[in-house]
Amino acid sequence: MMNPVEFFRSLPKKVCPECGQHVEEQAESYLMECERCLAKKIE
Ligand SMILES: [Zn+2]
Repeated sequence: MMNPVEFFRSLPKKVCPECGQHVEEQAESYLMECERCLAKKIE
């Protein structure tokens, strides 16, 4: 049996296409960029 930790590890991580940094899962799942890159776009 696969434990939950291994299961989530097997899932593809969400990565920011701008800087390649791992993006934390958020309610706004349509957002691809990390907070830093989003802030840059807003400026
Ligand atoms: Zn980024």
